[in-house]
Amino acid sequence: MERAMAMSAQEALERLKSRNAEYVNASANTGDISQERIKQLSEEGQAPYACIVSCADSRVVPEHIFMTGLGELFTIRVAGNLIGDMELGSCLYAAEHLGVKLIVLLGHTQCGAVASALEALATGTKPEGAMEPLLAGVFASIGGERDPRAASIANARRGVSMILGNGEIAHLVQSEGLKVVPALYHTETGVVEFME
Ligand SMILES: [Zn+2]
Repeated sequence: MERAMAMSAQEALERLKSRNAEYVNASANTGDISQERIKQLSEEGQAPYACIVSCADSRVVPEHIFMTGLGELFTIRVAGNLIGDMELGSCLYAAEHLGVKLIVLLGHTQCGAVASALEALATGTKPEGAMEPLLAGVFASIGGERDPRAASIANARRGVSMILGNGEIAHLVQSEGLKVVPALYHTETGVVEFME
């Protein structure tokens, strides 16, 4: 039922672009968070039209960036917008069970995780403890790149590759028209640059 009504990847992408254009001129999010909407979603279930993987950065809030209310975005957030097993499983859930046709890997400028990785590389510091796997993920993404903005883009692109590297997701790309696209949020302006 939900799948039959699901928005196509292209429609979802156009909606996100137009909502972001609204956001850069807005002073408040006009998304629907009313009691009526809460009740409706509770009774009918959710049917989000896009899955957004973003950083946990407090400036990078997908529901605001795309001016959305409840039930519109399936959002996965983790520092450095890195893809691990949990994130991959969450993406697959959105695509397979909720019928989402668009997954956006939303990197951003001024990313602390990317900056920390670049600093560790510059100073020759070896990451330790809980930060180690996080920075290892960024290292793997950026390779020899040392420019922060280019490194954030490389990190988003690798995230997309990792999502598409999952066989079940690759199958949905072929059979269901699922799209996985990288994007960069500019923390300086609020603009989302989609990089297809
Ligand atoms: Zn970040």
